[in-house]
Amino acid sequence: MDLSRRIAVIGAGVGGLSTATSLVQRGYKNLRVFEARKEAGGRTRSYLDPKTGDLIDNGQHLLMGCYTKTLEYLKLIGSDHLIERVPLSIRFHQSGVTQILRVPPDSEPPFNLLAGMWSSNLLTAKEKFYATELGLAVESGPLPNGFEEMTCIELFRALKQPQSLIHKLWEPIVLATTNSAIDQASAVLFVNVFREVFLGEREASDFLIPTVGLSELLIYPAISFMQKEGVQVTCSMPVRSIERSEDGFTVAFDDHTETFDLVIYTGQEFDALPAGIQQGLPDRKYSTIVNAYFWIDRAIFDTPVHAFLDTTLQWAFPRASDFSSQRLALTVSAADELSARTNEEIRHILWTDLCAAIPEMRSAACIHYQIIREKRATPLLTPSIQSKRPALRSPIPNLILAGDLAQNGIPATIEGAIRNGWAAADLVPEL
Ligand SMILES: Cc1cc2nc3c(=O)[nH]c(=O)nc-3n(C[C@H](O)[C@H](O)[C@H](O)COP(=O)(O)OP(=O)(O)OC[C@H]3O[C@@H](n4cnc5c(N)ncnc54)[C@H](O)[C@@H]3O)c2cc1C
Repeated sequence: MDLSRRIAVIGAGVGGLSTATSLVQRGYKNLRVFEARKEAGGRTRSYLDPKTGDLIDNGQHLLMGCYTKTLEYLKLIGSDHLIERVPLSIRFHQSGVTQILRVPPDSEPPFNLLAGMWSSNLLTAKEKFYATELGLAVESGPLPNGFEEMTCIELFRALKQPQSLIHKLWEPIVLATTNSAIDQASAVLFVNVFREVFLGEREASDFLIPTVGLSELLIYPAISFMQKEGVQVTCSMPVRSIERSEDGFTVAFDDHTETFDLVIYTGQEFDALPAGIQQGLPDRKYSTIVNAYFWIDRAIFDTPVHAFLDTTLQWAFPRASDFSSQRLALTVSAADELSARTNEEIRHILWTDLCAAIPEMRSAACIHYQIIREKRATPLLTPSIQSKRPALRSPIPNLILAGDLAQNGIPATIEGAIRNGWAAADLVPEL
């Protein structure tokens, strides 16, 4: 294992930083991390809201107990104490009625899920029966022939799931975990998420809720960890091209070039990559997430995770704030249409949805709000794109593709990016 190899990690989101910290941990110190933007963090970053003084994220992120590589990463960089673990419990709001779905923490999978589902009033007896059938098919088969090429809705229909069950349970899960509509998301992703969350370890279905901003949890501690080992993250340094050269790779920036033995690329766009690598890569399509933060004048929510049915609004996550009684982080996935609206229109739609779903909201006031559109929140993983996600080991020797798009069978998430980051670091000694 040659620890002196010159390595470039391109991109300082969680994908790049997990790759780099894992390499540093293994003793690779001749390493540079380059980030195009002014600040590290990519799609997981936080900033100060000037009016309230609150630290807010570029969008609410929820982590799950099955995020095993993320937990290892947090431990390595020393921020694992900055998450709160709560057993899965969701309040579903629909036209003024609230139903709770909770997974009891004291029994083992899949009995905890079954107990939670059968004791909840969210589903009718018939829906519970069909949901159990789906769970059994995912756990031990058979899954329909060719499900790998299906969208989620095709899988649900093949498994004879009633429309009402799809609407109440499967669709919210697909939207939240894949950021895609059920008629677009790959069924493979749903099946793999279901297995990891509900059929793995007992703690796999827990929510891991960050108690600090995403930058404080995932980004700054990683940069400090590397700085202590003499490894720098250089921001405002877009890589313009990567070409093979006699002694490795020539990486070109705006005003100079540098040479490396090995390059790990974690960006979403492939323009900077050598031309040969573009063939065979999937189409670049993205799915939008619209986030809103509402500061409200009374504390209405007393549990952390709320789902909404029959509304544009999909999820709400309340938090304490020094500026107002409560701050709500609201999210809408697969939100291309909504994102085309003005901020005031989005505020109005989401506020109306909150009031329709929760009667107490009607006497509350929104004293400040922020709308954040992430138009390239995640790659759109249709069945065809899912099957063509690039492998970590690219066709060009010593060039690794990581980040959340690289293939690992799970949706483009923090865990997906970090899993690929650690796997990329595992590959380095082999190359
Ligand atoms: C609003 C929102 C909500 C989300 N919610 C969740 C959630 O609840 N749970 C979850 O697990 N995931 C969620 N995700 C997805 C998660 O944020 C991403 O999957 C993850 O952050 C991807 O990390 P990455 O490092 O692969 O990519 P990025 O974070 O995009 O990092 C890539 C970095 O590379 C840089 N870069 C690109 N090209 C170059 C170049 N040529 N030179 C130098 N630098 C370059 C970019 O500037 C960027 O900083 C959400 C995403 C968004 C946007």
